[in-house]
Amino acid sequence: MSEEATGTSTRSCGKCTACCKTHPILELAKPASKWCSHCQIGKGCAIYGDHPQGCKEFSCQWLLGRGQDGDRPDQVKIVIDNFILPVLGDMIIFFEVTEGSIRGSFATKETRFLLSVGRAVCHLPLAGRNTLYVPIKEMLLGLHTFTLNGKETVIVHMPADEFAP
Ligand code: SF4
Ligand code: SF4
Repeated sequence: MSEEATGTSTRSCGKCTACCKTHPILELAKPASKWCSHCQIGKGCAIYGDHPQGCKEFSCQWLLGRGQDGDRPDQVKIVIDNFILPVLGDMIIFFEVTEGSIRGSFATKETRFLLSVGRAVCHLPLAGRNTLYVPIKEMLLGLHTFTLNGKETVIVHMPADEFAP
């Protein structure tokens, strides 16, 4: 069963370097969804210790305890982050690592769970527009789109039991 991240996990990255692809890093002018030039894929960061603040600030939800031990981002091909939008508040973001994984069983199960506990979930696929799913209609606040990671993001009302990839 899916669970909220507890922040008490003792997990470590191991061979995962997935966020070094998914996340934009301002200091390096690294765009989202492109491998960082300092990343030794499957090994680690070549400048670890001197890596930018933008890298250090990422709160990997798997490291914090979300999902099962086997749901490491490089395995399920989804990196999970959280983000606070001034209007919509705290939301969970799924970054796709390889195309198609946002429609896979892990992302589907976690999205249903999060919606069922009242969380907004944003899907960032490699191709196509982003989608922010909100479980309660009132969370739409009259908004229909916004920009995230330089891409259009549509906002849709989605009760947990109706979610399908
Ligand atoms: S996605 Fe999470 S587990 Fe993977 S390298 Fe980044 S911080 Fe570590
Ligand atoms: S600088 Fe290092 S930690 Fe930061 S994105 Fe690049 S490889 Fe990853």
